Amino acid sequence: MARIWVYAEMTAGGVVEKTALEILTKARTLDGDVEAVALGPGATAAAAILGEHGAKTVYASDDPVYGEYVAWPASHALHELTKEHQPNLILFPSTYESRDVAARLAARTGSTIMSNATDLLGASSAQTAIFGGSLLVDVTLEGPDPKIVLVRPKSFDAEPSGGSAQVVPVEVAIPDAVKRSKRVERIVAESSGPKLEEAPVVVAGGRGLGNRDNWKLVEELAGAIGNAAVGATRAVVDAEWVPYALQIGQTGKTVKPRVYLAVGISGATQHIVGMKSSDRIIAINKDAEAPIFQLSDLGIVGDALKIVPALVQEVKSRKA
Ligand SMILES: Cc1cc2nc3c(=O)[nH]c(=O)nc-3n(C[C@H](O)[C@H](O)[C@H](O)COP(=O)(O)OP(=O)(O)OC[C@H]3O[C@@H](n4cnc5c(N)ncnc54)[C@H](O)[C@@H]3O)c2cc1C
Repeated sequence: MARIWVYAEMTAGGVVEKTALEILTKARTLDGDVEAVALGPGATAAAAILGEHGAKTVYASDDPVYGEYVAWPASHALHELTKEHQPNLILFPSTYESRDVAARLAARTGSTIMSNATDLLGASSAQTAIFGGSLLVDVTLEGPDPKIVLVRPKSFDAEPSGGSAQVVPVEVAIPDAVKRSKRVERIVAESSGPKLEEAPVVVAGGRGLGNRDNWKLVEELAGAIGNAAVGATRAVVDAEWVPYALQIGQTGKTVKPRVYLAVGISGATQHIVGMKSSDRIIAINKDAEAPIFQLSDLGIVGDALKIVPALVQEVKSRKA
């Protein structure tokens, strides 16, 4: 039976990055023994939630070295663990941190590495989207084990199954040679309201808003709705109206809210891949031919600069 590992990235807050739980939920449906590796402060305590989501064993180390130094110590430890336990497949969340670790591990093991997987089909095959998300392809991975696959966030829902995991302490010594990139500072982007990736409603703005001053319309609408996060297209981020942390799409975040409101967004494929799984999509665009309308449940053709203020008033008066 295949041995399938999930790399359970530990966040700075000492909890498991949520995508790892999504991947575990899927991995436990595959034909194989599912195990997790958690490295960094909070790892041992995280075994409980990893077990609930399908890991039978958790290789854990609470050593702060994994948080203090970027990627190298984790890839070193994983490599040593891989030699000892011989997993067939290692699944990584497609986050900034985990991508670094996975790439360094692949360089050490000579494994095939596949990025941006949207579904997992077995211990050596996965699915991904090509041509800007317009076509899904099944990929069979060749080369030596372990195969390495980076999985896109929100590809699966994280659901506990009620299981529990045995904890195996990781006792790999971390040599100074891999303490290369020290993390000197963490800057937490200021934000109010729900996190973009978790908000039930996302109000996203695009270049159609015209200029940075009009961006406040998007914020006002999100504020009026309540419990809504603000997102943006790359065009708006590149124009420096908003920080990169708000970017949704191929090179930004993936969101899956109950309602996605696209304001002045054309619907380029690179944007759509980050939001197309939203439950309901509402678009406001003055161009009736804008591609965003093809995937919208409700389309409003008109000037966002007039429609959004009216919508804000309407939402406020109904709430009152
Ligand atoms: C490698 C690569 C990666 C990329 N990654 C991303 C990514 O992660 N995320 C992303 O978003 N993009 C990404 N892009 C860019 C993407 O291709 C598009 O250029 C971008 O999404 C367009 O943003 P936009 O919809 O805001 O702007 P535009 O395409 O310029 O669309 C503006 C829309 O606003 C409408 N409009 C204009 N005025 C009004 C008005 N007054 N009222 C209502 N509507 C109005 C227009 O009709 C138009 O449809 C990437 C591109 C590349 C090449």
